[in-house]
Amino acid sequence: MKPFQKVYLEITSVCNLSCSFCPPTERRAEFIKPDEFRRRLQEVKLHTSLVALHVKGEPLLHPKLDHLLDACKEEGLQAVITTNGTLIGKMRDKLLGKPALRQVNLSLHSFEGNDPERLDAYLAPLFAFARDAADSGIHVSFRLWNGEEKEEGASYWSHNRLLLERLSAYYPTAGELSRPLAPGSGIKLAERVYLNRDLVFEWPSLNAPEDDGAGFCYGLRTQAAVLANGTVVPCCLDGEGVINLGNLQEASFADIIESERALRLKEGFSRRTAVEELCRKCGYRRKFG
Ligand code: SF4
Ligand code: SF4
Repeated sequence: MKPFQKVYLEITSVCNLSCSFCPPTERRAEFIKPDEFRRRLQEVKLHTSLVALHVKGEPLLHPKLDHLLDACKEEGLQAVITTNGTLIGKMRDKLLGKPALRQVNLSLHSFEGNDPERLDAYLAPLFAFARDAADSGIHVSFRLWNGEEKEEGASYWSHNRLLLERLSAYYPTAGELSRPLAPGSGIKLAERVYLNRDLVFEWPSLNAPEDDGAGFCYGLRTQAAVLANGTVVPCCLDGEGVINLGNLQEASFADIIESERALRLKEGFSRRTAVEELCRKCGYRRKFG
């Protein structure tokens, strides 16, 4: 049995949007080269059967995405893509029909603004893609991760009215979409197509306030991540490589996840203690109590 449910392999650090909840990366702009991607697949496939092709950055900007998905298939790995969806019309032929592609997550919360015309232009290719992807066996999740801690039904509706109206019109059999979906829950819109709800995503930051550090996290237990520059980090939330465990240009993935710093982090969480400063400032840890 492979230890990680998923390893995040970021294929680019570049994004074409600047969402209000997502601080731009200070890392160098780069796109992974297919040869280097394959080398990384060969290392991580000993530890997982599933790779997610992002941390920060927009994966559909990668011009060789189809080749990268072919490499996943050849190395026996399945892939998940999370995208803001703005390029889905242009890139659909590089995605559909790729046997390695298990799931595409479409982040609707990256669409901001209340202009219905812009919204329709954004959604039409997403709906068309979701239909064709589901028909070809790919799972599609529309993500609506813009929830507030104490959200009322009325604010849920007013915040998301245009989107929900469009989803209701396109998926009329999905049921009452105006009823608030609790954070962490989802609803089936069609075969293999879902709407998933969660709280606004918060990137952990060293500038955030620190708490007592008690708690647990699955970082390095069920997941790890590799940034486009080769830096290995314990989770998909360390988008700046603060918990830099090592670099795949200099050491193997196996050695890095068994390094002293990595083991200290893991052993700390076994004692329900965050030993890394970033972890003590990360709301994700508090989710697990
Ligand atoms: S949340 Fe995603 S789409 Fe928005 S700026 Fe960050 S990486 Fe780009
Ligand atoms: S506590 Fe946060 S920063 Fe630390 S490993 Fe977990 S998800 Fe990553």
